[in-house]
Amino acid sequence: MKNFNSNRVFKRNNHEPNPDGEYVLYWMQINRRFHYNFALEYAVGWANKLGKPLVILEAFSCDYPWATARTHTFMMQGMKEHLEYADRQKLNYVSFVEAEAGQYESLLKKLASNAAVLVTDEYPVFIMRKRNETYPQELEIPYFTVDSNGLIPLGLTDKDPYSAYLFRKIMQKNFVEAFTNPPKQNPLEDLENTDKVELSADLYDGITDGRDSLEKIPEFVSKLDINQEVKPIEWHGGRQAALGMLGAFIQNGLKVYDEKRNDPDEKKTSNLSPWLHFGKISEYEVVKAVLEHQPAGWDLDKITYNNGSTGGFFNGDPNIDGFLDEVITWREVGFHYAHHRDDYDRLDSLPDWAMETLNNHRDDPREWVYTYEELANSQTHDEIWNAAQTQLREEGIIHNYLRMLWGKKVIEWTPDPETALEYLIDLNNTYAIDGRDPNSYSGIFWCFGRFDRAWQERPIFGKLRYMTSDSTRKKVKLKQYLGKYGNQKALL
Ligand SMILES: Cc1cc2nc3c(=O)[nH]c(=O)nc-3n(C[C@H](O)[C@H](O)[C@H](O)COP(=O)(O)OP(=O)(O)OC[C@H]3O[C@@H](n4cnc5c(N)ncnc54)[C@H](O)[C@@H]3O)c2cc1C
Repeated sequence: MKNFNSNRVFKRNNHEPNPDGEYVLYWMQINRRFHYNFALEYAVGWANKLGKPLVILEAFSCDYPWATARTHTFMMQGMKEHLEYADRQKLNYVSFVEAEAGQYESLLKKLASNAAVLVTDEYPVFIMRKRNETYPQELEIPYFTVDSNGLIPLGLTDKDPYSAYLFRKIMQKNFVEAFTNPPKQNPLEDLENTDKVELSADLYDGITDGRDSLEKIPEFVSKLDINQEVKPIEWHGGRQAALGMLGAFIQNGLKVYDEKRNDPDEKKTSNLSPWLHFGKISEYEVVKAVLEHQPAGWDLDKITYNNGSTGGFFNGDPNIDGFLDEVITWREVGFHYAHHRDDYDRLDSLPDWAMETLNNHRDDPREWVYTYEELANSQTHDEIWNAAQTQLREEGIIHNYLRMLWGKKVIEWTPDPETALEYLIDLNNTYAIDGRDPNSYSGIFWCFGRFDRAWQERPIFGKLRYMTSDSTRKKVKLKQYLGKYGNQKALL
């Protein structure tokens, strides 16, 4: 990897490569794609250095927080597409979805025991973060994590950015270098040793090979001990669907993004977050595709450092520039924040002013207090909130503008900030197909003041930014949205 991208590589233990290892193992945990993937590229580099073949493990456990039929189905659709691709390309690809807790770990350890080196995805939240802290101590081979999450390498920041403005400054200083040092489109093309690896006979001892489960996804998922109430959604979890969504957005939404992104009725945002979350598409590809639609004559020389301000950096079409600020600055600030903070999912991480104001208003009377079940079932007095929750429950997503209102209101309708946070994380990560992401924590904690500043003081919220359903109704186009999702009967 070139120098700039060495900021993406984290060596997690001090083992030397196992000279008897038969292959290099790339464990695909979250950036689940064969293209534009720095971690896969790095694993290919190790395989070439050692003259060994590469084995790619893509697996899925059934024993993790907020496991649902929705997430499983989406993920397995992507794995099925991968299996077909890997067969065509004759890759050493092991695909496995566990039916019982523990099978995944056992498979990983067996594969690692015959490997020379292990490379996997760097990811700053959720179970991947925990695994990447634990396994390097348990496995006897070098364990590298490689960041293929965004444009600005995680190793480039030395502390958590406390605002988008601060991170935007870093992004503006590094954008051109990041963009001109991209991941390779097809890193597997560089793999020198393409020998077929005969995996040891006991690899699947007591468990079935992943192929079976991917042939009959609904049947397999329905038997798992996971939350079956949260049903699969219409969107397909594969890369082809992600590329299709990107193409549709460029055609229909990009040129009006800035103007119409906040109107739920317009549906002009990209909808890419589910596939960005599972790594089916890389942020680099999205940025590249979008930049190709800047007005004629635009090139990278038009970019001017603008001290962290939103405008005046890309100097292209304001719709495109606005979208880039979301997908680069707002998406990545959360990755960098979590990378530096192990309290990223706790209230302690809030800036002092936010925690202080929440504490000052902790005992303020609440006009409405709802239980988790009432919230989950859209049973509040607020039509817009209920509609947003219904969209989340049924379709696995909420329109961005309403997502902010949705989060803010839970703070107002629960007994204290701790309960509000618990409910929000639970609702988001259970129902949202893009949940369990650094952006889940950015979005939820933004409602509590992370990356924000103090506003005028008011009950319950204190100095946190406040949002109301009445002003939302006046501000954005919602008629069709409420027609579609808003027919839940109010509780009161
Ligand atoms: C309470 C709350 C919870 C949220 N939970 C999640 C979550 O679980 N997963 C998730 O990916 N996003 C979450 N967000 C951020 C944001 O709402 C979604 O990323 C966005 O709505 C996804 O829709 P889109 O792909 O059409 O976005 P677009 O507007 O098309 O933007 C393109 C991409 O930019 C990034 N992005 C856009 N807006 C934001 C933002 N405000 N913060 C961070 N990144 C952004 C996303 O990766 C998005 O896919 C949350 C926001 C809030 C307020």
